[in-house]
Amino acid sequence: MNTIAYVGIGANLGDARANVADAIERLRRLPDCTLLGASGQYRTAPIDSSGDDYVNAVASISTTLDAESLLQALHGIEQAHGRERPYRNAPRTLDLDLLLYGDQQIASPTLTVPHPRMTERAFVLVPLLALAPEVVIPGRGPARDYAAAVADQGISLLS
Ligand code: ADP
Ligand code: MG
Repeated sequence: MNTIAYVGIGANLGDARANVADAIERLRRLPDCTLLGASGQYRTAPIDSSGDDYVNAVASISTTLDAESLLQALHGIEQAHGRERPYRNAPRTLDLDLLLYGDQQIASPTLTVPHPRMTERAFVLVPLLALAPEVVIPGRGPARDYAAAVADQGISLLS
């Protein structure tokens, strides 16, 4: 069965724009996945993190992978970019988060979906709503209902 999933992409080390673009290309080529769409790239100031500004985007895919397998595949793409995790919220070459997986709500030791902090972050909500204005967050309602609360977070679309 095909499930539509949304993936949050972030980078703030190295050539962040190139890393985000490459991540989208790798999502396009991921086995058992079809890339449906991708938002533009946005620049945001770090939240709960450090270093340079972030470049963020959101992609949507249709996949036959289950959620845990998809998360593993996302980690594989992070590894391909040499992601290291020296400490929590460290600057990163590439961070891929599984935001939404169909209408499922998942709470396992390794995976929480919908992503627990997605409604508090402009760098998730703004690209997500650009890509999917009608998207509904399972258990929480339309994503657009959360946009006003993050409107004070600086974010700008890169051309
Ligand atoms: P963060 O993205 O929160 O800054 P990491 O990318 O290092 O931090 O992720 C830490 C762990 O979060 C991962 O090992 C993963 O198992 C777990 N995790 C739980 N839910 C999710 C999710 N929805 N998407 C991505 N990772 C998740
Ligand atoms: Mg992550």
